[in-house]
Amino acid sequence: RVELGARAYDVRIGTGLIERAGAEIAPLLKRPRVAVLTDEHVAKAHLDRLRAGLSAEGVEMTALALPAGEATKGWPEFSRAVEWLLAERVERRDVVVAFGGGVIGDLAGFAAAVLRRGVRFVQIPTTLLAQVDSSVGGKTGINSSHGKNLIGAFHQPSLVLADIGALDTLPPRDFLAGYGEVVKYGLLGDAGFFEWLERNGLALAQGDAQARLHAVKRSVEMKAEIVARDETEQGDRALLNLGHTFCHAFEAATGYSDRLLHGEGVAVGCALAFETSARLGLCSQEEPSRVRAHLREMGMKTDLSDIPGEFPDADGLLDLMAQDKKVIDGRLRFILARAIGDAFVAEDVDRDVVRGVLSDALAAR
Ligand code: NAD
Ligand code: ZN
Repeated sequence: RVELGARAYDVRIGTGLIERAGAEIAPLLKRPRVAVLTDEHVAKAHLDRLRAGLSAEGVEMTALALPAGEATKGWPEFSRAVEWLLAERVERRDVVVAFGGGVIGDLAGFAAAVLRRGVRFVQIPTTLLAQVDSSVGGKTGINSSHGKNLIGAFHQPSLVLADIGALDTLPPRDFLAGYGEVVKYGLLGDAGFFEWLERNGLALAQGDAQARLHAVKRSVEMKAEIVARDETEQGDRALLNLGHTFCHAFEAATGYSDRLLHGEGVAVGCALAFETSARLGLCSQEEPSRVRAHLREMGMKTDLSDIPGEFPDADGLLDLMAQDKKVIDGRLRFILARAIGDAFVAEDVDRDVVRGVLSDALAAR
């Protein structure tokens, strides 16, 4: 449960939840009808099961499948989605369902936030990234030509249904990208979980359902706890941005293309955040080595040398970091760590140290 007073909600994690969606969602409905926003990949693989699951409880469904991919998370498809919801006569008391990965969850959540000044929505996340991260916590929004996620709203879902079975059709590269966020939770606040991932990460990637269940549950518990403490990111919620200041610069440098997926950038960013922490004398050099070793073993990107194509120099990357939302008055604010499982918000981090970490990472290319 995400404890947010009047806006509290449950995250259900398990198998067969798509088949049971009708029973799970029906108690929220004032009339037996939902509007589903999804993408073309998810629709092809899973929409029939969702339709059957809903109609088993007499819930009717109307659906719009948007093109798959990050490019969908902008004004044109957003406007199309909102106009479609209105054409489908979705009313104030109705419920919108977001059925897909983080792109659909963010876009549908934002559509629900502004439609008729706010309607309720349910998240049915179908990627690992969406199950462990984006479906929980109420950050919704779309991208602008000025940057990612710059237009949005806090709008909490009324329910989240994370069906582990949906992950079986996820391409391995997308699965591993989501794993980048899973590792992040261990690194930022639970050394025991990171150790568990070191032992069970490979089984998890190979499809072990028990391992997947545990990893999603522990990740969601940590996210729920942090969000309940700091819903609108005045303080501790920033810990969830471990690795993200680096990641956002790399995503901007690679043009948000498939040269680098978000979760892949998070993994590289976590490794560099630990490297920065070690150089500042906050933790021992063993910590970044251990982070890298685990990511390598998982077959993930750990360094800029693993990302194809051209890159700006260290100063160019620093400039991109300065455009990040987390930067205040041009001062570099990073999530750094005293050890694996012990991250904290560091204000005004020494630019020269970060520049050094970046130029060494670039030199290794
Ligand atoms: P995504 O939604 O693009 O999904 C990745 C790919 O997997 C897509 O091609 C999609 O069609 C496909 N897919 C989804 N589920 C599938 C399934 N079960 N089987 C087969 N294919 C499937 O990407 P994502 O990684 O889920 O999310 C990335 C987005 O999430 C970014 O826009 C990022 O900004 C956002 N995000 C938001 C938050 C938040 O708190 N709101 C947190 C982290 C990330
Ligand atoms: Zn992220």
